[in-house]
Amino acid sequence: MTERLYYQDPFLCEFEGEITEVVPASEINQRHGVFLDRTAFYPTSGGQVHDTGWLAAGDSTSAIRLRVSEVVETEDGRVVHYIEADKPPQRGTLIRGTIDGPRRRDHMQQHSGQHVLSAAFIRLFDIPTVSFHMGNEYCSIDLDTPNLTTSQVEEAERLANQVVQENRPVEIKYASQDVAQTLGLRKAPRADKEQLRLIDIQDFDLSACGGTHVRGTGQIGCILLRKFEKVRQGWRVEFVCGQRAVGIARRDFTTLTEAAALFSAHIWDVPEHARKALDEVRAVRKTSEYLWEEIAELQAVRLLVDTRAENGRKVIVHVFTNRDLAFVRLLAQRVTRLDPNAVALLASTAGQASLVFAQSKGMPFDMGGLLKETLASLGGRGGGSKDLAQGGTSSAAGVEDALKAAAHKLSA
Ligand SMILES: [Zn+2]
Repeated sequence: MTERLYYQDPFLCEFEGEITEVVPASEINQRHGVFLDRTAFYPTSGGQVHDTGWLAAGDSTSAIRLRVSEVVETEDGRVVHYIEADKPPQRGTLIRGTIDGPRRRDHMQQHSGQHVLSAAFIRLFDIPTVSFHMGNEYCSIDLDTPNLTTSQVEEAERLANQVVQENRPVEIKYASQDVAQTLGLRKAPRADKEQLRLIDIQDFDLSACGGTHVRGTGQIGCILLRKFEKVRQGWRVEFVCGQRAVGIARRDFTTLTEAAALFSAHIWDVPEHARKALDEVRAVRKTSEYLWEEIAELQAVRLLVDTRAENGRKVIVHVFTNRDLAFVRLLAQRVTRLDPNAVALLASTAGQASLVFAQSKGMPFDMGGLLKETLASLGGRGGGSKDLAQGGTSSAAGVEDALKAAAHKLSA
């Protein structure tokens, strides 16, 4: 068993130990694994993420410094340190371990904050926490409840921060399963451990936990609740604590300030301005749709007037360099609706070249087949029905000639 120094002193960032076993990198695990007789490195468990840091050995003439990139708990309860090094170190080497302090303190703030927050949901609404997740950006707890309101979230945040401000002592205690049953733990502990490690937040929360915690709730700094959403079995609440909360609030403020500058408004008025701007965009879009339809109608009339009928039908061939596919499609529909004996072979070369073929209802041709043949000659793809088909090709070269060739097929 590895002696876990963080159980007694979670603020310990430097320690000395001995390498008791080395598991060299293999195909399955590409990093060397190192076991120590004692460690202050926290392995990922109970929702809390592992520490990172360094293992150093030797003197000034033959010093080694190994980066610890991940720390994991093995099934038999030992702690393995994965290191980034070409050569594995020797068993029996005496090492000095150094933990990445800011990272550990951040984890302690998030984890201790979670205890306070989960207890607040229990105390206020009797809503239990079923799981805890610590991510790189934010943390979350999953609550076992069918409903959760904004006011409940705000109330839990208020109580949790009150407990932070009261700076209540956080003590580590040990008790047997039997004794622990009588102490009123917030959550039933794991049954496989005879001796339980308890985290006692004075007169507020008592939980069995193997993680690293602050000494007093004041060290959490603050607890900021963010998004909450329905998940499969209850509700998920995202939160951040301490320095992380300050960082994320700073980012929020920068984002809001940028948005406010776009509207030349105060940050608190951004939603109102954004709503107004979106309403305007919607209105403009509606007007533009209406105008494009009218333009298509007028252009369809003009094309039909300008085209002479042959064999009792009008075949309109036109390439638009400044109209998009949506307009060309609209135009093809108008042409074939206005005239009962019309064929429209149209293309747009604005952006990617697009082709739209259409015929009036009841005409004998197959637009889908004709379009496929035409696009095949251009190296493009498309298809559609007997009366309307569309497709595209990467280059505008040859499009006009291909449309003329298609028209020629119809008169043959
Ligand atoms: Zn804990």
